Amino acid sequence: MSRRHFLKTAAILAGTGAAAALSGCKIRFQSSEQTAAASDQTFHWRLVTTWAPHFPVMGEGLDLFSNWVGQMSGGRLKIQVYGGGELVPPLEVFDAVSQGIAEMGHGASYYWSGKVPAAQFFCTVPFGLNAQQMNAWLYSGGGLALWEEVYKPHHLIPFPAGNTGVQMGGWFNREIKSVADFGGLKMRMPGLGGKAISKLGATALLSPGSELYTNLERGVIDATEWIGPYHDYLMGFHKIAKYYYYPGWHEPGPTLELIVNDSAFAQLPPDLQEIVRTAAFRLNLWMLSEFEAKNDEYLQKIRQEKQVRILPFPDDVMAQLRVKSAEVIQELTDRDPASKKVFDSWSAFRRAITDYSHLSESAYFSLISGNSTSIP
Ligand code: CA
Repeated sequence: MSRRHFLKTAAILAGTGAAAALSGCKIRFQSSEQTAAASDQTFHWRLVTTWAPHFPVMGEGLDLFSNWVGQMSGGRLKIQVYGGGELVPPLEVFDAVSQGIAEMGHGASYYWSGKVPAAQFFCTVPFGLNAQQMNAWLYSGGGLALWEEVYKPHHLIPFPAGNTGVQMGGWFNREIKSVADFGGLKMRMPGLGGKAISKLGATALLSPGSELYTNLERGVIDATEWIGPYHDYLMGFHKIAKYYYYPGWHEPGPTLELIVNDSAFAQLPPDLQEIVRTAAFRLNLWMLSEFEAKNDEYLQKIRQEKQVRILPFPDDVMAQLRVKSAEVIQELTDRDPASKKVFDSWSAFRRAITDYSHLSESAYFSLISGNSTSIP
């Protein structure tokens, strides 16, 4: 948008509040003719998920999503939510929706990195974007269009639909004083983060969530990452681990995904399609907000129980892991052209937003850090 057009538009908005004046910003609106074509047909959809039924935040959010869609559509789009394993196993959600066994799915795109390596950039990669930056890249920086392109051959339409915020670095029974302490460390760490710690001599394991507590308690693993204070507290890790490290460099703001079978979506009238899009936006914000509020609350519980030391990773450990993570991403983009294409967009966006975030969010946090108790 040119400066002249912006000033003209701003004047119109100031005078009338007319949102239609924003049409020059390439925002697509449904025409009234399209919405008038809405039918009375009722659609029954299945939503399969990678989460346990009614799992805190994720499962709860999908129950809400189903209600929102039902209410907005006047009952014309009914969505039945299935927890992982209820209709299909958790890690078959992608295939189930791709093949039309279910119309819709919810999970995290990095679960499919074995099948679609480029997908992980749309969730999270080590030392990548935080939640706010992910939303900016996906919605306004071209990321979502690339995501749609990557999923199109799989007959899937992706929607950002949740974010955990910056995760925690994990629970350790060995103090991490330097990179040497990763030598021989057995840690539950999926994805590219796991590959990065392997380069420092650790063994990255992929234990399912259900086995983590027992494995950590019995010393089968020395450390595990999970999510953040809320879910970690519910798992009880604070009772058996000595150290709780931050930050979650390996998952700095994972975007969760809603995936829709493209044929099923095409069969919906335009107003129901718009309801799905709108409810996905709402879910994206609701989950992030819920994570943020609950993590604050449960960090305080963990602090008050005083059973674990909460420590930052040493600077040189972060520096080394950053180097190793860059190597892992380089190896990925060298062997997979689709990952290279997505990475080029993602990394250009990251360079620019890191510059701006430094002057805005980062500078602001530095300003207020340590002063929270003195502010009325
Ligand atoms: Ca995690």
